[in-house]
Amino acid sequence: MTGSWHPLVFTPYLRPQIWGGRALAERFGKPLATAEPYGESWEISGHPHHISVVSEGPHAGETLADLCEKYPREIFGRTIPGDGKFPLLIKLLDCHELLSVQVHPNDEQAEQILGNEKGKTEAWVVIDSLESGEIYAGLKPGMNRSQFEQHMADKTTGQALHRFRPHAGDCVFIPAGTIHTMGGGVLIAEVQQTSDATFRIFDWNRLDKNGASRALHLQESLMAIDFSKGPVAPVEPRPLADGGQRLIECPYFTIDRYSSPKSVAVPTGELSIWMLLGGSAELVGDDGEYRRLFTAGQSVLVPAAAKSLGWIGTSTDSPAQLLRITLPA
Ligand code: ZN
Repeated sequence: MTGSWHPLVFTPYLRPQIWGGRALAERFGKPLATAEPYGESWEISGHPHHISVVSEGPHAGETLADLCEKYPREIFGRTIPGDGKFPLLIKLLDCHELLSVQVHPNDEQAEQILGNEKGKTEAWVVIDSLESGEIYAGLKPGMNRSQFEQHMADKTTGQALHRFRPHAGDCVFIPAGTIHTMGGGVLIAEVQQTSDATFRIFDWNRLDKNGASRALHLQESLMAIDFSKGPVAPVEPRPLADGGQRLIECPYFTIDRYSSPKSVAVPTGELSIWMLLGGSAELVGDDGEYRRLFTAGQSVLVPAAAKSLGWIGTSTDSPAQLLRITLPA
């Protein structure tokens, strides 16, 4: 199909995790197939573990990977990635229990240690947090490598990390090499490089029901941790001329936020991903040919070849919270 494209909506991939809960169903109506705790909804993914499938419209049934291969210019516009693959992984996370303390390698380290993976820089936007919610990001001030290794040996690694209580709206930037974890009832939107390169450093001395602990990757972690990375605090949003806020601008993605907007224009000629974190909003084509209501927890990819579109906030009782994710020019 050439000519103009409609926005692409995908079937989310819901992943059970021991640290998850039921908030993805309770909060966003995600269909959780079993009674297990669920940690992740992969909203938009080109990662081989699960490649997103279009759920509606002219491309229903096609995968994101196939579309990127067949129609790179229509999907990406001028910012076609060097390897042609979809470069971002977009998720919702229900961190009901603490995740393991972990670190992700950068691109060079991932290539060197794992061979077939990219590095992983990621960012979180907190949708909601319980009183018990906590984020660990970066090392405590002055924590050096030998002190850190002592904490690893003593199995007190959590004490080496900077910790804070998250609040709805906090955005936290975790470049590759930054040690991190979270849990205790934190619901977040996550934007990351397409990668599954995670090195587990510490699992809180937990054992599963068979008395086994999950594998740790201590040597790889020590290669990947950036020991110059001290405490990480939520970012300071920067106002944009169109009423939005710039949250993150990094070599892999840009994240902007629109809170209770009456209308937001969608950029034309470039790819944009939108996540609705609260309320509801309609995505409407300027020519009236496309109109669709989105509710909290839904995501949509607007290809570069889409006609001119805009968001219209609908609800007054629960205003729309929109995230816009774009690729660097
Ligand atoms: Zn991570």
